[in-house]
Amino acid sequence: MMGRNDNCFCGSGKKRKKCHSYISEDSYIESLYKLYHEIEIIKRDHQYPLEHPCKKGCHECCYDFFSITMLEFEAVLASLKRNGMNYTREIFNIALEYNAFLEKNDPELYNYFERDLTGNDFEEEFYFQRRLYNDRPARLSFPCPLINKESKSCSVYEDRPFICRTHGNTFNTSTNLYKNNSPTCEYIVDSRDNANYTPEVKDEFYTKMMELNKLVQGEMRSFLLQYPIFYWFKLYKDKNEKYNRDMYESLVPAYFYKKVDSLQPIDIR
Ligand code: SF4
Ligand code: SF4
Ligand SMILES: [Zn+2]
Repeated sequence: MMGRNDNCFCGSGKKRKKCHSYISEDSYIESLYKLYHEIEIIKRDHQYPLEHPCKKGCHECCYDFFSITMLEFEAVLASLKRNGMNYTREIFNIALEYNAFLEKNDPELYNYFERDLTGNDFEEEFYFQRRLYNDRPARLSFPCPLINKESKSCSVYEDRPFICRTHGNTFNTSTNLYKNNSPTCEYIVDSRDNANYTPEVKDEFYTKMMELNKLVQGEMRSFLLQYPIFYWFKLYKDKNEKYNRDMYESLVPAYFYKKVDSLQPIDIR
């Protein structure tokens, strides 16, 4: 087991007590951060060509329509809260505006997010969801609510989700992007060719991510209950308001201190 005086698991070189001290040792959330760290090492050790377009400051893909898991959102939320409640509320309000915009402009998609999927046939739902998402353009007309409007940088960069760490600068042969050789973005039009210049993030990383989420959401539900970042904000607001809590409370605070293997699956809806 790691002590507070040992080097932090994130690889910063700092002591744990001066770095990720807020993350409990051997907890589920620590497992997520270890996974993030492994990805960062893969990228750090890869020799990218100088002209590779994925560079700090490039943020066009922050307009993409993509979903993240609940555990990743919990990490984002904790990161925001460390920047203060005013800031957290501000981001919540931006995200809620985007939800209102979507409700007006794409009610079919918005109403799908709002649906309670409890008890539904997993396979049927899964294919329905794929069709619904694949029918949509790859880009939204608004950016991720976590992008800083002035600097255009990510406000939770160190705690950003898995996909934000891997999109464009890594490849995985099982993704639709690779299989269909679809453009990754306006700068990377050939996803297969991009694989010649980027490191592979193997399936095991994706599997590990899902394993972690299975524990809070159950096996089937963890696949279905992935939402765009802006909608997670809405879901947290609704759920917390129902129980008279501030909109930004964690829905699974146990994640931050419970030891791996100690949590029973819970139902978030
Ligand atoms: S994936 Fe494309 S848009 Fe995103 S950072 Fe890389 S080059 Fe920029
Ligand atoms: S979390 Fe950060 S990197 Fe990811 S889409 Fe949002 S602003 Fe962009
Ligand atoms: Zn650390």
